[in-house]
Amino acid sequence: MNIHEYQAKHLLKEYGLPVSDGRAVTRAEEAKTQAGALDGPIWVVKAQIHAGGRGKGSFKEDSAGPKGGVRIAKSVEEAAEEAERMLGRTLVTHQTGPAGKQVNRVYIEDGSDIETELYLALLVDRETSRVSFIVSTEGGMDIEAVAHDTPEKILTFSVDPASGVQPFHGRRVAFALGLTGKAVKQCVTLVTKLYQLFTEKDCSLLEINPLIVNKAGDVVCLDCKMNFDSNALYRHPEIMALRDETEEDPKELQASKFDLNYIALDGEIGCMVNGAGLAMATMDIIKLYGSEPANFLDVGGGATKEKVTEAFKIITSDPNVKGILVNIFGGIMRCDVIAEGVIAAVKEVGLQVPLVVRLEGTNVELGKKILAESGLNITSGDDLADAAQKIVKAVKG
Ligand code: ADP
Ligand code: MG
Repeated sequence: MNIHEYQAKHLLKEYGLPVSDGRAVTRAEEAKTQAGALDGPIWVVKAQIHAGGRGKGSFKEDSAGPKGGVRIAKSVEEAAEEAERMLGRTLVTHQTGPAGKQVNRVYIEDGSDIETELYLALLVDRETSRVSFIVSTEGGMDIEAVAHDTPEKILTFSVDPASGVQPFHGRRVAFALGLTGKAVKQCVTLVTKLYQLFTEKDCSLLEINPLIVNKAGDVVCLDCKMNFDSNALYRHPEIMALRDETEEDPKELQASKFDLNYIALDGEIGCMVNGAGLAMATMDIIKLYGSEPANFLDVGGGATKEKVTEAFKIITSDPNVKGILVNIFGGIMRCDVIAEGVIAAVKEVGLQVPLVVRLEGTNVELGKKILAESGLNITSGDDLADAAQKIVKAVKG
């Protein structure tokens, strides 16, 4: 799960980490009062969306020309104008895709005098099974380009979970970032507290880009992206409360309420499958026969009639779906129960596009018979390849 920058900064502050003072604003009328509550003399107005690259992004239909989602203001009035310009508009960045994301909230914070912009991130490193610090002196808005063109400028330090974070980790990070003077000591504290936050809150990613050294020589976290392990959220109601459902795909949100593993994709064939591995194989074979999957959907091992119906509703609500492939292996589930579920779902939801069903496993013959005798326009697939070819053919005409 992702949270917004302003929420991440509140967490950083709770852990005693250095962030600028700021105020979140949802209505343009509040912007002036909130900006006025900050010190100035520079204000920074920042669009709050679950995507990076805001600084270099641009708003759709912006009469003021291409201005990004991070803007510097020299007065309270200017800050309020920027807030008003952003609120309710759609910001497009290289991370949002062309559709962009609507800005429902801006964060107004005190501007910093930046001396250098650095990069610092913590993540769960699958290769070493440890939490690693990723650091670079080339922080700011182009870290993707640094990773691509000069990967040697990005360094990694992992922390042994048995000993936990130690002051030497902080010193290593500080020297890798080229810090001097009081910034070294501040970095040691920063590294310790970030590690503590990361592990206590079950983060999967915590990225500070940029981490800056200001003109006074102090280290400050100017941006923060935090990602949490969804499987650990049950331990953190305070993090769960930060969830912003308006940032999520409505179909994925609906699926999560029914405990369906659904990811929206941009192809044309909707898939309903049981088991993540089979779902991956189904997506692969659709591509192999020349089409693209519209989604990943694993209904799980114990799919009930209700779950199958809900999955159908979600798939058919996607206007990109031109055909549906149901691929179920009846192991614990019986194929006749699946067939009944599919028929009930089709009767309830209706069917505007071709549907191919491939069943295999327990009671497969009975399942196929039920489908064949249903009187509904359902095509049966003999095996995975046959079913995939049939649905691709039906969609491609
Ligand atoms: P994004 O990564 O989404 O583009 P950032 O929060 O990193 O957004 O902001 C982009 C750039 O704007 C930063 O690299 C920094 O140069 C500048 N910036 C952001 N916040 C501040 C601030 N409080 N004071 C001064 N400059 C800022
Ligand atoms: Mg940033």
